[in-house]
Amino acid sequence: MAEFQLYNTMTKQKEIFKPKEAGKVGMYVCGVTAYDLSHIGHARAYVAFDVLFRYLQHLGYEVKYVRNFTDVDDKIIRRANELGEDPLALSSRYCQEFIDDMVDLQCLPPTHQPRVSEHMDQIRDMIAQIIRNGCAYEVEGDVYFSVDKYPNYCQLSGRKLEDNRAGERVAVDSRKQNPADFALWKAAKPGEPSWDSPWGPGRPGWHIECSAMSAHYLTYSFDIHGGGMDLIFPHHENELAQSCAACSDSNVSYWVHNGFVTANDEKMSKSLGNFFTIREVTKLYHPLALRHFLMGTHYRSPVNYSISQIEIASEAVFYVYQKVDLLSELFVMFLKRAELTTLRFLEVEHGT
Ligand SMILES: [Zn+2]
Repeated sequence: MAEFQLYNTMTKQKEIFKPKEAGKVGMYVCGVTAYDLSHIGHARAYVAFDVLFRYLQHLGYEVKYVRNFTDVDDKIIRRANELGEDPLALSSRYCQEFIDDMVDLQCLPPTHQPRVSEHMDQIRDMIAQIIRNGCAYEVEGDVYFSVDKYPNYCQLSGRKLEDNRAGERVAVDSRKQNPADFALWKAAKPGEPSWDSPWGPGRPGWHIECSAMSAHYLTYSFDIHGGGMDLIFPHHENELAQSCAACSDSNVSYWVHNGFVTANDEKMSKSLGNFFTIREVTKLYHPLALRHFLMGTHYRSPVNYSISQIEIASEAVFYVYQKVDLLSELFVMFLKRAELTTLRFLEVEHGT
């Protein structure tokens, strides 16, 4: 099998890709929180990992690609309350919108697309295991991960615990043993969906879902864990800590992260008016124009979206389609001619 290199965020260098099991690859990519239409930052991440998925398959690997949906989350609950809708119905609707966007962008479907609401058993089991292993504690129905009990915390992001300054912007929860401790399970509040647990009714914290679902589908030891660079801290740092705290054999070979998308040279934000959903772009341009634009920059470099750039990508895609169309016309003409020649040849053969 052809060799290739992959940049590993953990070691901060390119490494020759070696799968844990010959001929097979397990890849987990963090999916969207389904409460709204996805934006072009999401498109960039999933196009990048689609290219990696396709490339690995092209090399002959059997790839198990898992991409989750966060369908239980603060943002979903808030939006559902605003709209007077059931949170799971709302998230289910936006999961489908996301799938439609991925089809438009010609991203192949992952092998599994698990949802948090369908994996509560795995999540509760993992939290219980982390508590048994002494790395988490319960307070009044909440369960927190104890960063002080896990000595390798911050090995992925390279941050220092004191950099976290959890109390700077939000009030420090005095029930936490360390302000950097993060929630594995949140006790139910009125008006929120909840599930039973040994710590009382509640719902999972954001990070634990990916640890539980990656372990469920790929075991604790797999090849590639991916997502956008903004996920390195805290999400992936916390995932790594949880998985290792739950199982000492936990190991991801390559942490792979794609770069940011800016729009008109600024961070995309709704308040600046430079925020683009995939749907807004694909209403005006061919979805492949967006894919072509996103693939025009190395996946780890920042990419800047602007009308002039998508216009250029759109023209390039139009040019390719035009040529394909022309070639197919020529091909049909060639076939007709070949048919005619054959018929003439047969007429001569039969002497008619
Ligand atoms: Zn994740």
